Amino acid sequence: MSILTNGWAAYDEKAIFKPIKFKRSALKDNEILLKTLYSGICHSDIHQAKNEWGRTVYPIIPGHEIVGEVIEIGKNVKDFKIGDYAGIGCMINSCKTCNACLESKEQFCENGVVWTYNSCNHYDDNEITKGGYSDKIKVREDFAIKIPQNAPLNLIAPLFCAGITTYSPLKFSNIKNNDNVAIAGFGGLGIMGFKYAKAMGANVSIIARNNKKKDIALKLGANEYFDDVKKINKKFDMILITIPAKYDINDYLKILKYGGEIAIVGLPPINEDVSIKVNQLMPMAHKKIYGSLIGGIKETKEMLDFSLKHKIYPEVKLIKANEINQAYDELLNSGSDFRYVIDFNE
Ligand SMILES: [Zn+2]
Ligand SMILES: [Zn+2]
Repeated sequence: MSILTNGWAAYDEKAIFKPIKFKRSALKDNEILLKTLYSGICHSDIHQAKNEWGRTVYPIIPGHEIVGEVIEIGKNVKDFKIGDYAGIGCMINSCKTCNACLESKEQFCENGVVWTYNSCNHYDDNEITKGGYSDKIKVREDFAIKIPQNAPLNLIAPLFCAGITTYSPLKFSNIKNNDNVAIAGFGGLGIMGFKYAKAMGANVSIIARNNKKKDIALKLGANEYFDDVKKINKKFDMILITIPAKYDINDYLKILKYGGEIAIVGLPPINEDVSIKVNQLMPMAHKKIYGSLIGGIKETKEMLDFSLKHKIYPEVKLIKANEINQAYDELLNSGSDFRYVIDFNE
């Protein structure tokens, strides 16, 4: 039996959200159905609601930072029972057989990952996926993240995107005690990356473009705070770049140690993209630059455990579902370091 769901959808590029009723296809034997408790608003929701990446199917129901309670389970489900809490992040399906999937790097599935919303679920019902701005959502149990009963449910939804996005590259670069790490850009992602790197034992410095957040950074335990990358006179083992605007990558290569690594998780607009010339790269002493995109399911579970253990949470501002439009306006006009999270308990 199909599942009647109440959500919030944008109907065109103006991205004005209005209530919508729609049906999700019937629960399968390996799926769980969640009652949504909290759903974070991510900046990529805004890009897609406004069709800024050019591939939006309307009406669009975004949301890929979801915390819910299990209210129904398929008959083959093993790891969840009714009443458990579960999280859903950016993806809900993949082929499970390719090299990337076998390593639990489902986000890089060679046969195409299915994103939580605005994506065709070509392994299943071929429907366009609809995300967490809705009161119910279902998922294969192996794409759900079990949440312990005592976790602070109101704080953790953004971990399933902003958290894993910054945790994964720090693990990939094998950050450990006393490594010198720099976080470039100190917005929402930068702050999360800073907290994880510190909890991994690194000496963490912040590179920003002004002094506005110096006091906060030092209070949180930043080793050093730089307001201009060109003035830095030391070298780092790793630099995590979270900057969503244009910058010169050479400024960062210059302050990277021999063999050091730059991970890029910030996405500048297409017309302000960052480039590098081979002639500049060649003399760069085995330095590596790599991009990172969220993280696999196995690593997302690890990230949640790590976050709960070290009490690493984003700054969250809870809103009601009818305040989505207002939240979008505020994010677009002022930007912010906290995450808006829709509270469906209301
Ligand atoms: Zn996101
Ligand atoms: Zn795959």
